[in-house]
Amino acid sequence: MRECNKHIQEIADYIDGELDAKLCDDIEDHLKGCKNCRLMVDTLKQTVILCKDGEKEELPESISSKLNEAIKKRWEKKFGKA
Ligand SMILES: [Zn+2]
Repeated sequence: MRECNKHIQEIADYIDGELDAKLCDDIEDHLKGCKNCRLMVDTLKQTVILCKDGEKEELPESISSKLNEAIKKRWEKKFGKA
């Protein structure tokens, strides 16, 4: 689970499309072997879509931070603190 916690921020960036290619590969590698993170990505993608309300705009910084907070809280609730 340590591995997963390490990836939370990267997963958020990955979903935002802000991750560089190298890290993207790392994440996708991890996702292949980790059901928990795949679930997280699916959940977050839906959250992001809701936030964006169907529009292809960059998430404002404030929403991005809130999303990151939400990820952490959701993660800790589900899997416990790191
Ligand atoms: Zn994982």
